[in-house]
Amino acid sequence: MFRRKLVSLILISAFCLSAFTGCNKEEPEPTDTTPEPTTATEATTTTEATTTTSAAPTRTAEEYKAAGINELNSVPILMYHRIYDMKNSDTEYTGGNVDKDGYNRTSEAFEADLRSYYQMGYRMMRLTDFVDGRIDVAYGYSPIIITFDDGIRDVVLQGWNEDGTPKFDPSCAIGILEKIKAEFPDYNVTATFFVNDQLFENGEENDRKIMKWMVDNGYDIGNHTRDHKKLGDCDAATIETQVGAIYKKLEDIIPGQYVNIVALPFGSPESMPAEKPQYQKIFDGTYEGFTYHTRASLLCGWTRAYSPFVRDYNNTCIRRIRGYDNNGEDCDIKQNFDQLNNGKRYISDGNPDTIVFPASDNSSGDWLKNTFDHQTIPY
Ligand SMILES: [Zn+2]
Repeated sequence: MFRRKLVSLILISAFCLSAFTGCNKEEPEPTDTTPEPTTATEATTTTEATTTTSAAPTRTAEEYKAAGINELNSVPILMYHRIYDMKNSDTEYTGGNVDKDGYNRTSEAFEADLRSYYQMGYRMMRLTDFVDGRIDVAYGYSPIIITFDDGIRDVVLQGWNEDGTPKFDPSCAIGILEKIKAEFPDYNVTATFFVNDQLFENGEENDRKIMKWMVDNGYDIGNHTRDHKKLGDCDAATIETQVGAIYKKLEDIIPGQYVNIVALPFGSPESMPAEKPQYQKIFDGTYEGFTYHTRASLLCGWTRAYSPFVRDYNNTCIRRIRGYDNNGEDCDIKQNFDQLNNGKRYISDGNPDTIVFPASDNSSGDWLKNTFDHQTIPY
């Protein structure tokens, strides 16, 4: 009975469907010549030329090499949706998938994911810092970014504590994140939640209080549009309403404390071609007198994100990894992390103000492109 109800609930819900296929091939970096959907309009890209100044290395080239330091390599940005209070054995699907395509995950699998990333040497960082090119992760560790779309079952309220803090369902996304945060203080637990008009579905009064608690406790809230429309098919006025209404709402609830980042529903549009000027409304517009500016937009998951410092990074089409299982195939978590851990992962030098990388990785001279005015240390 529970299963049938759950399945129908999942089937009617709007998933963030990826339009990308053939993503399971190994993509070489930095010699990747695969055409990317990188045609952004000028106003929306932060790829302005920045000066490249070299800094004195604080370690020897041998030390950097031994630790595998490479800040031109890729960063996993995980895309999750709903987290259900289920064991993996409760589902009909492989691994921790609650639905066939794995857009929803069991609480057991989500908690195991977080423990696994930690054990592999990943440490969390805020998405907004990534967009700013400010990657502050300890020496020898790798950044990871956690995101949630749709707001449903991400934050499930059980009630309020006497001190006014929210009491969360321990099996919802934030319940598990808080548990892991307490257990691993050096994990820097954080996540960005992208919401639609219904917010987290705890009733608007509760959600307003919860959202204030979230931004005060290290979590970020971003924009997933008002009604989850496929923006690639919308005209300018519709896009302005869809994006602007959520910014206006966030400004009302948590003024100045939300992130100006849009997770594109269905990962649409996949690129921002100049012949589609209506897409500019994702980035700049005015809704009911409220003027907004979007700094970055996210695609739906299949693969790791480029370092913000390299040529092919595009802040309008930031790539994510879908948090799901498929026996190590079709861009699932295992396949992506096997690739990352096999020479593709960003490994930090511990200093957010320098970009350290093997000189051979920029032998073309144009792979390092955006320094965000950091100093560079090729070795
Ligand atoms: Zn969505």
